[in-house]
Amino acid sequence: MLKHFLFFGLLLLLIAAAIFVSCNKKAQIAHAAVPGDSVKVENKGKGMKEKIVKSEEEWKKILTDEQFYIMRQKGTERPYTGEYWDHKEEGIYKCAACGEVLFSSETKFDSHCGWPSFYAPNDSGIIAEHADYTFGMIRTEVTCDRCGAHLGHVFNDGPKPTGLRYCINSVSIKFEKK
Ligand SMILES: [Zn+2]
Repeated sequence: MLKHFLFFGLLLLLIAAAIFVSCNKKAQIAHAAVPGDSVKVENKGKGMKEKIVKSEEEWKKILTDEQFYIMRQKGTERPYTGEYWDHKEEGIYKCAACGEVLFSSETKFDSHCGWPSFYAPNDSGIIAEHADYTFGMIRTEVTCDRCGAHLGHVFNDGPKPTGLRYCINSVSIKFEKK
């Protein structure tokens, strides 16, 4: 009788131990599935260029006085005075502050307004638009989306195929021959 009792007790102990081990394993698996614990974040920042953020003091050291006035303080160069309003060479136009490709000579056209004009930005889509209500006008300001530099404005009176006119300060862009 005592033997039977001992055997039964031992059996119960074994079952209890087995249940404990199995629960512990489940708990470990559940822990590993916590998001961010062991799951890798892929494609982080893929296709997106890192933005360039600098203080105004830093930009002041990098840019010329005229570039700083136009690109950081949203100034405008006088018409027919800039380097590129009548420029017809084939190539690309980069942001004068960060070097990002913004426009191509392929979409440049003669707008007779005294500033270099394009009917479309470069394919990279790096140009940002902002509503501008200064000087009692409703205009759309365009900036380099990578470094935030002011470039000019975009208007709806451009030629086909877009009907847009990106009116850009020569100071804000740098030409590179093809
Ligand atoms: Zn830029």
